[in-house]
Amino acid sequence: MSTSVPETMSGSCDCGAVKVTVTDVPIGVNMCFCSHCRINSGGSSQVAVLYTSEQVKIEDPDSVRKGYTMEDTMSGNPKTKIFCGTCGCHVYSEGGPKEGRMYGIRGPILDRTLETLKPTLQEVFEHKRPSFMGSIKSE
Ligand SMILES: [Zn+2]
Ligand SMILES: [Zn+2]
Repeated sequence: MSTSVPETMSGSCDCGAVKVTVTDVPIGVNMCFCSHCRINSGGSSQVAVLYTSEQVKIEDPDSVRKGYTMEDTMSGNPKTKIFCGTCGCHVYSEGGPKEGRMYGIRGPILDRTLETLKPTLQEVFEHKRPSFMGSIKSE
């Protein structure tokens, strides 16, 4: 089994209208349990793979992307969730704690799997993790 995150990955929203290609290793891979991520994902957490703008190529030939900016984040840094206006799938977020533009690509869309991201996965705001769910560190 591979122990590092692939240097090139690609994916798209559910309907395929918005495509993402990333190059080089990500800055980090966050499994976030904050309330925005839980509500947005429909699950216990959301996995964001973090890249600089130079590492990310977004293709949206029909200009279907829409955005929603949140100011009341747990980190205190505003961020904009970008989603497909056709299928509603959240594709990536812009903003965050780093200087300049940073992208948090939604993990499951990259190569349609989370398995390859596990080596560098870290939990964020894990005190919000549901009590019925174990930590990824416990393995
Ligand atoms: Zn779509
Ligand atoms: Zn979050």
